[in-house]
Amino acid sequence: MNVLLIGPPGSGKGTQGARLAERLGLRHIATGDLLREEVRAGTDLGHRVSDVLDRGELVTDGLMVELVLPVVRGAVNGPGYVLDGFPRTVEQAELVRAAADDEHAAPYRVIYLDVPRAELVRRILARAQIEGRSDDTEEVVSTRERVFEEETSPLIDYYRRRGVLREVDAAQPPDRVTADILAELDA
Ligand code: AMP
Repeated sequence: MNVLLIGPPGSGKGTQGARLAERLGLRHIATGDLLREEVRAGTDLGHRVSDVLDRGELVTDGLMVELVLPVVRGAVNGPGYVLDGFPRTVEQAELVRAAADDEHAAPYRVIYLDVPRAELVRRILARAQIEGRSDDTEEVVSTRERVFEEETSPLIDYYRRRGVLREVDAAQPPDRVTADILAELDA
């Protein structure tokens, strides 16, 4: 099974992605984590993306493809994957579809983690105290929210039209959200 997780910053993609991967035996591919790892390791890619991450903007599709597609291609022939944070644009959605088709991957389901804005702000500011992510400041979070609305939210309709979108009320406690996702996946 292959699962794509879509949701605004603070909707719980990371938490739910890790849980789903463990429960379903899937590979968890979190593109934000992969990028932060490149920055930490001081790679060439890390240098090219670190300012973009700090501003809360999107890394270009070209760089994302370089980073993500090899991982996706490697995972489709295994037990499958949970992709958390990718795609974030319709262009990326087309790219991941083409890669999956090339590999004759199993069809994927898309889970949209829906959370009201006030709850998102509360969660992110709480996370900022614990994790100290450089993009969890109030100013950068508002950019990330705008980027989600403008660039990523069109994916909700894109996938709804294709009949693969499942919406989950992700303002609930994490265990309820996980249970609802598993139910939507018939898992
Ligand atoms: P996340 O941990 O998913 O919130 O991602 C953190 C940051 O990584 C985002 O604000 C973007 O700057 C970058 N990023 C992660 N995934 C993508 C993607 N699919 N396309 C472009 N940029 C991304």
